[in-house]
Amino acid sequence: MKLGTKITLLTSLLLIVILLCVDIIVYSLFIKIAGQNAGEMLLSKWEPIIQQVESMNSEARNALLYNSLTEDTLIRISVPGSDSIRMISNGADFNLNGVPVTSSKTRNARLLKHDDERILMVYIPMKTAGGTMTCFEIAERLDDLETNIHILVTILTFTTFGAVMVCMLGGSLLSRTVVKPISTSIRTMKEIERSLTFKKIPYKGKSADELYEMTGTFNRMMDRLEESFWNQQQFVSDASHELNTTLMIIEGYSNILRRWGAYDTKVQEEAVKSIYEETKRMRVMTQQLLNLASSQQGRQFMLDSVDLIQTCKQVITHFRQLSTRKLILHAKEKEMVIQADHSKIKQLLIILLDNALKYSTAPIELHITQQDDNIQLIVKDYGIGIPREEVKHVFERFYRVDSSRHRKTGGTGLGLPIAKSIVEEHQGRIRIKSREGTGTEVIVELPILHPSWNK
Ligand code: ADP
Repeated sequence: MKLGTKITLLTSLLLIVILLCVDIIVYSLFIKIAGQNAGEMLLSKWEPIIQQVESMNSEARNALLYNSLTEDTLIRISVPGSDSIRMISNGADFNLNGVPVTSSKTRNARLLKHDDERILMVYIPMKTAGGTMTCFEIAERLDDLETNIHILVTILTFTTFGAVMVCMLGGSLLSRTVVKPISTSIRTMKEIERSLTFKKIPYKGKSADELYEMTGTFNRMMDRLEESFWNQQQFVSDASHELNTTLMIIEGYSNILRRWGAYDTKVQEEAVKSIYEETKRMRVMTQQLLNLASSQQGRQFMLDSVDLIQTCKQVITHFRQLSTRKLILHAKEKEMVIQADHSKIKQLLIILLDNALKYSTAPIELHITQQDDNIQLIVKDYGIGIPREEVKHVFERFYRVDSSRHRKTGGTGLGLPIAKSIVEEHQGRIRIKSREGTGTEVIVELPILHPSWNK
C-alpha cells in the first residue's frame, strides 16, 4: 500500500472512531436529559391532581383522573401487597402489559422502551386517610421525543459522514503534499541508479521541515560524492599520466641502449644512469601515491601525545646522516606536546625539509612557536623560490613549477599534496610564502588539542 493511501486511511479511520464515540455520547446524553425534563414536567402536572384525589370518593376520583388524561396517557393504580391493579385510559392506543408494577416509597420518573415505543412513566405514591398506600403510575407515550431522536440521529449520521468525507479529501491532499517530495526523491534516486550520474533533488523555497532537511542532506551528499568521484578520476588520470611519462623515458633510454649502447660506452653510461634515476623516481612516486591514497581514505591515523620539538630533532638527525647541509632548529621551549599522529608528523617534516634541501643551497631554518591553541611550524629556506603565479598551484597533485628542474631533483609533484592532506587530517592549515630567487617559507599551523580527541 502506498504511503499516501496509508496516511489517508489511517486519518479517516481515526476520525471515524472519534466521531462515533462523540455520537454515542451525544445520543445518550440527549435521551437522558430529555427523559429527565419530560419526567419532571409530567410529575409537576400530575402531583397536584393526585393530591386532589386524596380526599375524593372513588367516583369523583375516577372522573377527575379520566378527564385529566390525554390520548397519549394512561394511569395504572395499584395497592402494594394486593393484586388489585386498575388501568384508566382515555382512548390511549398503547398498554402496559408486561411492564412490572413499581413499588417505591418515593416519587420517581423513568423512561422505558415498550413494544418499540418510548414510554415515560412517573410514579407517585399516595397514603389514603385509612393509612393504606395507593400507587399511581402515569405512563405517557413520548412521540415528540421519538421524533427528536430521529432528527438527532439523522443529523449525527450526516455530519459524521460529511466529516469523514472532508477528512478523506483533506487527508489525500495532505498526503499528496507530504509524499510529493518523497516521490520526487525516489524518482531522482531511480534516475541516478539507472544512469549512474550525479543528480540532485529539485526543491524550492526554504523550510524547517524534515523533508526539506532530508532533501538538503541528500543533495549535499551527492555534491560530496561527485566531488570525491571526480577527484578520484583526476587522481587516476594524473597518476597514469605520470607513470606513463616515466615509462616512456625509460623506454626511450632502453632503445638508445639497445641500438648504440654496445658501441658507445658514454651513451651506455648515460642511458643506464637515466634509467636508474627514472626507476628510482617511479618507486618513490608509487610509494607516495599509496601514502596519499591511504591518508585520503582516513586510514592509519593514530592520535597520540607527540613532542614536536623532539620529533623535529629526530628528523634533523636523520637528514644530517644523509647530507652535510645545515639545518637549524629555532624553538624557545624545550618540549611542545600536541595531539597528533607521530609517524604522519614525521612524514610532514621530511617532505618539507626534503623540498627545502632540494631547492636551496644555503642553511635551512625550522621555527616552532606556540600561538594560543595552535603550534606554528615554519620551514624556511633561502633557495630558488617559487614564481608568484605558481604558488597557488603547488598543492595540486603532480604540479611541478618547472618540470625540467625536477627531473634533475627527482621531484614527483606529490610531496606538498601529501603534506597538505596530513595537515588537514590534523585539522590544521598549511600555506606557502615564497619569492623567486630569495627563498621559501612553508607555514604550518596545528591545533594542540585535536578536535576529535576524547570523542
Ligand atoms: P616535488 O616532489 O616535485 O618537490 P612537491 O609537491 O613537494 O613536489 O612540490 C611541488 C612544487 O613546488 C615543485 O615543483 C617545487 O618546484 C615547488 N617547491 C616546493 N617546495 C619548494 C621550495 N622549498 N622551494 C622552491 N620550490 C619549491
